[in-house]
Amino acid sequence: MKTYISDSDFELMDSATTIPLSLFELRNDRLFESDRSSKMAFRMLCEQALLNYKKFPPIGDLLERVIDCTGKRPCRLICCPVCRSKKQSEATLSNLETFQNATNENSYFLTALLPMSSDLDETSKTIKNHRKNMYYVFREYKKKFPNSNIDIVGAYEYDLKSIDEYNMSSERARKLFTQLGFDKSKDESMWLPHLHAIVSPLEEKQVSTIRDLINSATLDTDKIPFSVELKRFREDKVVSENISEISKYCWKVRLQHADNIFLDNKDKKRSRYLSMFPVQDLYYLVSHIASQGSFKSLKFQTKI
Ligand SMILES: [Zn+2]
Repeated sequence: MKTYISDSDFELMDSATTIPLSLFELRNDRLFESDRSSKMAFRMLCEQALLNYKKFPPIGDLLERVIDCTGKRPCRLICCPVCRSKKQSEATLSNLETFQNATNENSYFLTALLPMSSDLDETSKTIKNHRKNMYYVFREYKKKFPNSNIDIVGAYEYDLKSIDEYNMSSERARKLFTQLGFDKSKDESMWLPHLHAIVSPLEEKQVSTIRDLINSATLDTDKIPFSVELKRFREDKVVSENISEISKYCWKVRLQHADNIFLDNKDKKRSRYLSMFPVQDLYYLVSHIASQGSFKSLKFQTKI
């Protein structure tokens, strides 16, 4: 599985198409120099489009829309490295402001996994309901504790889980897959919607209450162990660095498979980025999110 595309491979791709790929890299060389993962994500998109546009032409059109993206006429597609990095920078600045009094001791990184579905409409419905439920439970909390002052800011993401990933997972992760609705008998990939967010300030004694609230907003049925994780900020970094990194992470809008269901689990194995989503899934996901209002449809923000 290819995760890296060299300059010479990129030149080869560029010469095989009339779409001006290298011009796009040139136009955005400042971004690509400072952010290598953006550059690789772009090259992987190019590769995916060029390998597949004959059997699936819409992917070629999608790539052209990205190539046409300029500061004046942004494409706002989640697969566009320029639009994505702009969103990441905006979120970082805004979060540094929101969390200017945060400390590593009172700040947490939330990951909440939501029920899976093979249908994209269903998946966005799950996200919309989750956002609504979160606002509701936090409003109720605020009524009980009017002096609380917690900010929760982040973004939803659509992850795609395939049967291969299920088979490769640990027993604990498989159990979690199943509890979240993954149906291994169907032999089809399923979308795993989830939320990443910064939660701060939070006293240690409030953590379990907040986790329970998020759990109750996440699933109608019984709690699923491990589906909601609140992780303390890393102590080996200063707080602003943590905020910047997590803000970027929240808005990475991943279009590649990862081998770790908890993507932030830095204590254990770091998640590796594997191949891009299959071409049709990639295309339908990008188009679906564009139809929902693009990046803004993924945002989560509340103050309690
Ligand atoms: Zn763009």
